[in-house]
Amino acid sequence: MKTIKLKPKKEESILRHHPWVFSGAIASLPDDLEEGETVRVEAADGRILGIGHYQIGSIAVRLLQFGEGALPDDFFNRRLESAYQLRKALGLIRDDNNCYRLVHGEGDFLPGLVIDIYGDTAVLQAHSPGMHYERMNIARALTELPEAMIRNVYYKSETTLPYKARLDPQNDYLIGKFDGNIAIENGLRFNIDWLRGQKTGFFVDQRENRALLERFAKGRKVLNMFCYTGGFSVYAMRGGALQVDSVDSSAKAAALTDANIELNFPGDSRHKTYAVDAFKFLGEMEKDSYDLIILDPPAFAKHRSALKNGLIGYRKLNAKAFEKIKSGGILFTFSCSQVVTREMFRLAVFTAAAQSGRKVRILHQLTQPADHPVDISHPEGEYLKGLVLYVE
Ligand code: SAH
Repeated sequence: MKTIKLKPKKEESILRHHPWVFSGAIASLPDDLEEGETVRVEAADGRILGIGHYQIGSIAVRLLQFGEGALPDDFFNRRLESAYQLRKALGLIRDDNNCYRLVHGEGDFLPGLVIDIYGDTAVLQAHSPGMHYERMNIARALTELPEAMIRNVYYKSETTLPYKARLDPQNDYLIGKFDGNIAIENGLRFNIDWLRGQKTGFFVDQRENRALLERFAKGRKVLNMFCYTGGFSVYAMRGGALQVDSVDSSAKAAALTDANIELNFPGDSRHKTYAVDAFKFLGEMEKDSYDLIILDPPAFAKHRSALKNGLIGYRKLNAKAFEKIKSGGILFTFSCSQVVTREMFRLAVFTAAAQSGRKVRILHQLTQPADHPVDISHPEGEYLKGLVLYVE
């Protein structure tokens, strides 16, 4: 195995088990090192720090294991088994819940890898060339998990791998085949489109927040902005909402929402879908039409360079909701931008509230669920932030 040598003093964060080696920390690289190779990382004083995947870019190595030891042959079996046992301990694997995130990158000590489970199908996403090269080993280890009963493994990395690496990943089944796409979350059924949908086909990360929304829905008129698969809408329907309107600019998303409502509440006339731009819809709608609004937009700031504009976006969006929501209304508002901190998001929402002149209280502060764990050494793994607000 080839070795990457670090500059003096650059081992400190690694000794605290932060799993990234930045390119600026590297003193020397072997000439023939290929992107995606598994490498050993060595401190300037010769200490072996760990083993990881090499990649061209600002994060040069993603560490898979710390310390001097070699990677065991059954490395993926072990890590996946430990990830599975955590989900089991969390009570996420039940007859009425068969969709969950099995691997959340660094949060499961598998940087560069995301795996979501939908019944007996696993959808695998590689975010690093190293994980791309390991995809068959990972797929095999998934089907070998003793209790998980995974029969199909779909690989979906066309949009998550670095474009410059020219890996040409084809989205396809690595093992098994399509055998149905209906997953169950807290007793509700969802069509999951892992072939064409965003991410792995579903936003598994909003499960607990959707369940909380269900408790607020009774007797309310609900507006679900940026609805995608209609997750929040389906929960609001079960919670006894009077009316649920779902909005997404994508016609495909609107169709998915309709299909999921029909699957759970066939023929129920309380629900309507609108395939229009969120800002346009909020701008044109009558005041006081809704007393429960959900704002779950796509990441407005995907990179640090977009932070300022992203925060302006969150402020404007929330200001529109404050302007229109009925008195005594509840607002569920989210940001999934990793670079927007909890404090920044709260400040953007506060500014919107102040501008609108509404009296606003925070009822709940939300985050990602426990199957998206954050390694305490890697705070960058925390990305989802939400507030539940009471608007007078
Ligand atoms: N709330 C969803 C996830 C939202 S993902 C869930 O629980 O599953 C973000 C969605 O916003 C995508 O479906 C995307 O099509 C939609 N979107 C992006 N820009 C939009 C805009 N300007 N107006 C309305 N929808 C938009």
